[in-house]
Amino acid sequence: MSVAVAAPTLTSTDRCDRCGAQAYIRAVLSSTGGELLFCAHHGRDVETTLRPQTSEWLDETTRLKAERHFED
Ligand SMILES: [Zn+2]
Repeated sequence: MSVAVAAPTLTSTDRCDRCGAQAYIRAVLSSTGGELLFCAHHGRDVETTLRPQTSEWLDETTRLKAERHFED
C-alpha cells in the first residue's frame, strides 16, 4: 500500500511573503501558477483582491484557533 500524498500542507518552514511570519495561507495564481504564502494577518488582508485571481486558496488559519499560538 502506497502512502497517498495529500494536498500540500503548510509547515513552520513556510513563511509569509510579506512579513516572514509563519504562513497559514497558500495561494496559487491562476495566471502564472506562482505560489504565494501569507500569514493569517496578511492572508486576510489580501484575500478580497487576490483570491479571485487564484486557482487555489488553501486556508489553514483554523489551525491557529485550535493551537492558539497567534494573537491578532
Ligand atoms: Zn504576514
